[in-house]
Amino acid sequence: MPKVIIHDAIDEAGVDLLKSRADLDICEVARDDDDTLRREIADADGLILRYLPLRAEMLEASTRLKVIARHGVGCDNIDLAVATARKIPVATVGDANAVTVAELTLYFMLAASKKARHYDESVRRGEFLVREAADHLELYGRTVLIIGFGRIGRRVAARCRAFEMRVECCDPYIPQMEIIDAGCTPVADFAEALPRADYVNVHVPLNDETRHLIDRAALARMKPGAILANAARGPIVDGAALHEALQSGHLAGAGLDVFDEEPPRLDDPLLSHPATVLMPHMGGSSRGAFIRMATRCAQNVLDALDGKLDSSFVFNTEALD
Ligand code: NAD
Repeated sequence: MPKVIIHDAIDEAGVDLLKSRADLDICEVARDDDDTLRREIADADGLILRYLPLRAEMLEASTRLKVIARHGVGCDNIDLAVATARKIPVATVGDANAVTVAELTLYFMLAASKKARHYDESVRRGEFLVREAADHLELYGRTVLIIGFGRIGRRVAARCRAFEMRVECCDPYIPQMEIIDAGCTPVADFAEALPRADYVNVHVPLNDETRHLIDRAALARMKPGAILANAARGPIVDGAALHEALQSGHLAGAGLDVFDEEPPRLDDPLLSHPATVLMPHMGGSSRGAFIRMATRCAQNVLDALDGKLDSSFVFNTEALD
């Protein structure tokens, strides 16, 4: 009987989908129980994985694995080279949580523009007259630069257009007509567009090219008073340089769902800075997204075991050859 490991809890909807198949042995492994995982992976046929770093040693201990179904979009916690060499496809959840991350990005843009933390705390302290400052901003009529026009970036673009913003997008890896057809302006070089953007949002994967894409030099090129949102991966932005840019007043605010180190250290100055709006890496984790992600990764496992895994969900398609 094929064995499927669910590592770390997923929504019941996904577990129920797997259980609807009588011919499966389902093995649920708790988040920190590495010993059980190491033992069970040896003869497992499928693995549903959330955040655990799945390194070479663990993959090499498996003898029958036919699919790793990531409960998420990124694959940076998996040793892809080893998975591919062993012909194990790594499947992700497609756009199951794209709208969730897109909404969080709009929340960051709005919360930073409206100085949500400052005015909320002022009202609670009885300082109603702070309203005289009227120094919060509108999205209307302003320019946003979206870096990465994939599943999330294009949903952010559509929502920004609904706010009547001017939307510029940089993604050299897709046909530029897709950006134009979405009513946005393509830019070839994001650095060139930084000085005119009131908002900069990153929606690219983390890799060697994008690590510190927003570094000290990029931050310096940003328009004074601009707002940065990162709901992609922490290391895409140089956190220390971002703090300097906020501290000097060059940037007006930043929304961060992700950090260099997670969880961030309590003495990370971005945590105490008044111009940051923070979330604990849950941009893709709403109630609805959890159900969609759990059912998608369970379906990916079932499809892989049936030999009909949809390649559009597979990250390392070479493993399907
Ligand atoms: P996607 O693969 O659909 O889109 C990424 C886009 O970035 C692609 O179109 C690609 O061509 C483009 N790109 C790659 N390198 C680029 C570069 N150097 N410059 C400009 N564009 C570049 O991915 P997605 O589903 O939109 O997700 C984007 C990222 O968001 C993921 O890689 C993941 O790290 C992150 N994410 C975070 C959460 C969260 O909880 N905060 C949830 C889901 C995804």
